[in-house]
Amino acid sequence: MRYNLTNVISRGGCINIPAIASRTYTRLKQEAHYSSLVQTFADKLKEIKSLFERVKFFHQKVDEAVNKVLSNEFVSPRISCRPGCAHCCYTQVSVTQDEAEILASRIIANADEFDMGRLLVQAQALNSADKWYGLSCAKRRCLFLNDDNLCSVYEDRPAVCRANYVLSAKESCSTEDGQEHHVRLLSTADADMIIVGAFVHSAENGALPFMLWRAINKLKNQR
Ligand code: SF4
Repeated sequence: MRYNLTNVISRGGCINIPAIASRTYTRLKQEAHYSSLVQTFADKLKEIKSLFERVKFFHQKVDEAVNKVLSNEFVSPRISCRPGCAHCCYTQVSVTQDEAEILASRIIANADEFDMGRLLVQAQALNSADKWYGLSCAKRRCLFLNDDNLCSVYEDRPAVCRANYVLSAKESCSTEDGQEHHVRLLSTADADMIIVGAFVHSAENGALPFMLWRAINKLKNQR
């Protein structure tokens, strides 16, 4: 099946396609390597019937593409991202339905560990960036960020949390004032195209809290 990428990517201004991956697609879509990467990856995902295997394959391919860039000896020393620096965990992260369902099942299994009140407040921002940044910084804190400022679902973290590395000073990532600021990102074009392929394949995409809330209700209703 061929996907109507132009229509899908035109939604990139909202949360449906992650903004960074969408920009990379717009920049590189004329190059055969990249357009074919999107299409073949979306087709490949379609063949995998198991939700768990699909997400695993998606994340594995993103990790491989990112690690290839990071393995360059001139790149790694220039990365500002460090464990415990979690500014990006207060931004609006977008996920596929598959990613949301994997993370929702973790919340259902360990409900006592998560602040469901905060999740509801976040989910009510739906897919709106304006509503999201209208929340206080404390309310925007990702549900999965633990007390040590580390990701508590690191193995299952969404693809966008795997692909974005910052070259500018880490302070520029702060959204404490309710705004995103310009940051210089490492170019991870192959990973971005894989992400676009996965989002194109996915029936639903959106902001992590909104997608989590829907997935939790869906999974509970299936029981
Ligand atoms: S899933 Fe993990 S890495 Fe991604 S925003 Fe949440 S805490 Fe941060």
